Amino acid sequence: MTLKIYNTMSCKSEEIIPGLTQDVSSGKSHPVTIYSCGPTVYSYAHIGNFRTFLFNDFLRRYLKFRGFRVDHAMNITDVDDKTIAGAARDGVTLKQYTEKYTDIFFEDLKTLNIESVEHYPKATESIDAMIDIISRLEKKGIVYEKEGSLYFSISKYERYGRLSNVESREIKSGARYDADEYEKDDVRDFALWKASKPGETAWDTPWGKGRPGWHIECSAMIRKIFGTTIDIHTGGVDLIFPHHENEIAQSEAAYDETFVRHWIHVEHLLVDGAKMSKSKGNFYTLRDLLDRGHSPRSIRYLLITSHYRKQMNFTFEGITQADQALERIDNLIVRLKDIRKTAPPGADAGSLADQFIDRFTAALDEDLNISGGMGALFDFIHAANALIDREAISIDDAQLILDVLKKIDSVLGVIFFTESGTRVDEARIQGLLDERTRAKKERNFARADEIRDSLLAEGIILEDTKEGTRWKIRK
Ligand SMILES: [Zn+2]
Repeated sequence: MTLKIYNTMSCKSEEIIPGLTQDVSSGKSHPVTIYSCGPTVYSYAHIGNFRTFLFNDFLRRYLKFRGFRVDHAMNITDVDDKTIAGAARDGVTLKQYTEKYTDIFFEDLKTLNIESVEHYPKATESIDAMIDIISRLEKKGIVYEKEGSLYFSISKYERYGRLSNVESREIKSGARYDADEYEKDDVRDFALWKASKPGETAWDTPWGKGRPGWHIECSAMIRKIFGTTIDIHTGGVDLIFPHHENEIAQSEAAYDETFVRHWIHVEHLLVDGAKMSKSKGNFYTLRDLLDRGHSPRSIRYLLITSHYRKQMNFTFEGITQADQALERIDNLIVRLKDIRKTAPPGADAGSLADQFIDRFTAALDEDLNISGGMGALFDFIHAANALIDREAISIDDAQLILDVLKKIDSVLGVIFFTESGTRVDEARIQGLLDERTRAKKERNFARADEIRDSLLAEGIILEDTKEGTRWKIRK
């Protein structure tokens, strides 16, 4: 089985071959280099943004599940028109303004159980790399200056437009171009470096004081971190043109080598069938949904279980269905933990587990077909429940099934998940349960209640039964 993912550049599903090393055995020792366009930290990210960030997380988790190593960067855009305007409006420095929203963004990632990546470069810390690209382009005669700003001249770069397949006449007609308040020679050209207005944050460069254009930021951070062609670049479909097209133009013109081998784009999220907008009242940040009482776990479940290349329609009905799906999984876990029968592992549980892992992997290998993967998971849950109903399952079988669920959850990140967004530490919970049992025996009910309440605050519910205390995760 090989993992194939759709490449926007070639319009085909293609195998992921890290570093283009053809030999699979050595290929696996080469990390998959990934760059994901990150947030512009000027406000709270909305759930459409989080669909893309959750996809990035799902992609890296699946690559690791398939035995690849990953070396993943996501940038923080901490200087652009919106952040500068926001800082001026609030009367704070650009740094104070962007740090506030950067912290909020990282809290939201943690809430959604999104893994940390290896690099979080900031635009303002990568100015040297931007100057290097612009200097190279200038030597090649691709840059021109107008009123203190520097522009990339698209007429000097013949290969422009391969990713989006946008006809140049369409761009020239002005239907979809990079709107910019500055004067340009050609409507298609884009700013590499912008003249700063008095009082704005600015950096010294060989061309005088100024600040970066948005597109150059990603090209510079990729070069600075990876130094050469990367395997995968991800982002929302709205970034294909002009942002990613411009990244390709400036990087390939500057360094004369392929910029990115595999482009992966995530489709839009709609809310109640319409594009999210504040005026329509269907615009939600993650925190808006939490304030309405929805759990981060259900939100994560809902956002990762629709295929990344299809538009997703977010509804509150969908969150309720996610709650129900998670409850089915949780109920199986409670039942598995209740098994007391001792016997050697039976053939049934083992073959069930193997078949499930094979089906799950075969589905996701085909352009990350999550629906097929979730179908396999719920068939597995159904079959495991049937084994329990027939009492054809021992403690060892139950543990094997739990281990398989943990393995799958290294990809999904929704099964062993608490409200605080941290992964469940079962040994710690068991330790607290044991302490609570001892406290009760010693008639120290205050301590026993204290333990129950502190676990409840983490989203862990205790149930006292004749066989002892068991626990489950609150939805
Ligand atoms: Zn970008």
